[in-house]
Amino acid sequence: MSRKKHTAPVTICWLRRDLRLSDNRALQMAARSGHPVLCLFIFDRDILDPLPSDDARVGFLHRELDAIRAELEQLGSALLVKHDTVASAWAAICDEFAVKQVVVSRDYEPYARERDEKIYDYLKDRGIEFKGTKDHVIFEKNEVVKADGTPYTVFTPYSRKWKEHYRLHPPADVPDPGPGDFYPCAPLPFPTLSALGFKPSPIAIPPKVLNTALLNTYATRRDLPAVAGTSRLSVHLRFGTVSIRKLYAQAVRHSDKYADELIWREFYQMILYHFPHTTHASFKPAYDRIRWLNDEKQFAAWCAGTTGYPLVDAGMRELNTTGFMHNRVRMVVASFLCKHLLIDWRWGERYFAAKLLDFDLASNAGGWQWAAGSGCDAAPYFRIFNPTAQQERFDPDFAYIKKWVPEFGTPAYPKPIVRHEDARNRCIAVYRQALTE
Ligand SMILES: Cc1cc2nc3c(=O)[nH]c(=O)nc-3n(C[C@H](O)[C@H](O)[C@H](O)COP(=O)(O)OP(=O)(O)OC[C@H]3O[C@@H](n4cnc5c(N)ncnc54)[C@H](O)[C@@H]3O)c2cc1C
Repeated sequence: MSRKKHTAPVTICWLRRDLRLSDNRALQMAARSGHPVLCLFIFDRDILDPLPSDDARVGFLHRELDAIRAELEQLGSALLVKHDTVASAWAAICDEFAVKQVVVSRDYEPYARERDEKIYDYLKDRGIEFKGTKDHVIFEKNEVVKADGTPYTVFTPYSRKWKEHYRLHPPADVPDPGPGDFYPCAPLPFPTLSALGFKPSPIAIPPKVLNTALLNTYATRRDLPAVAGTSRLSVHLRFGTVSIRKLYAQAVRHSDKYADELIWREFYQMILYHFPHTTHASFKPAYDRIRWLNDEKQFAAWCAGTTGYPLVDAGMRELNTTGFMHNRVRMVVASFLCKHLLIDWRWGERYFAAKLLDFDLASNAGGWQWAAGSGCDAAPYFRIFNPTAQQERFDPDFAYIKKWVPEFGTPAYPKPIVRHEDARNRCIAVYRQALTE
């Protein structure tokens, strides 16, 4: 006799970066498996344990999962939650349930790919099918490639081909599962945030709505950090609490510029898939010869927002306080770190990874390598943002700066830690040396 607690055959839909029940491709696929579907989320100890106890992203995950749990219970099913290492969670799940199939949305990050390969093998040994589907992006892997089948490494031709592909192969509308598709069971235990070792963070999560008025003014307001001109949906795209297909379909009706930004996101996911080493090594190998100065004191000033460059400082303080930084300012602070301070882009990338609510390995490494000049389709190394000129252009009345750096303009505000012209010349010399060696 089976010692399993649940003996009825079940398909598990393992949620990871697709935290929603509506327009979720993995869930739709699971519903067609022929077995009732039980949704699962694993709070992965390997990811969670190193995080600080007030990490806002964990609180956000917990809140979104609680909403999913309530929705599933309304449907007479439940959310299975584990707080464990992934391998040990799966061993327990296979002990408890008569698992026939597991369905996931594919994740293109190296850690996730390795994890999924191990789970695939583990399940295969037990005769359980493990299936992946595309949900996180509209086009993945080799769907948008050059005529010779190789991946694009420049955005503009990629986006042209992407749009053509979208016109020819728009994502199909697939029905969501109904109540009869879910595994009927009593509610399952749902850990509190404190049981996971976390506490609520004071950081607020932006709402998951995109209004048409914002889209209509996006092209003209998106570069102004003092105004609410961008959607703040990045955290929702990162965790899949909104559907990229629905978002793109809405965006493209009102703003080509906004639609293009969503394609930048797909571009970086595609780059990560084909060039996974670019999370820790330069896309253009010659850039790994740069002799970074890596001055720890200057790095600390950059992190704290005390460089004496008000736009840089405002951005870093916005990040430290809210877990968000405006895209224009991300470009300025990243360029300042790599080029003015000659600090390795990986230091900045890791700092952003720790602080950003929307941290996403593909876009973050992509953005950092763009700023350092080492990435695919990056800013040329001799193009060095002048933080003062950027402020004059994008925050001309200092509204953003005054919000985040209240002591700006008083004696309490620090003097610049480097002189722009000196830093610029030094950067060009150091880069040129590395690239001509
Ligand atoms: C150094 C650096 C690091 C970055 N790190 C991240 C990161 O970890 N996670 C992240 O999601 N974005 C990152 N970005 C890209 C961009 O800054 C953010 O996506 C954007 O600021 C999020 O705000 P929003 O949702 O209001 O964007 P909107 O302007 O409303 O754009 C809509 C969506 O398009 C996507 N998008 C916009 N700009 C970009 C871009 N340049 N690259 C890729 N996708 C984009 C995002 O998903 C965003 O939510 C980084 C950019 C730079 C320069």
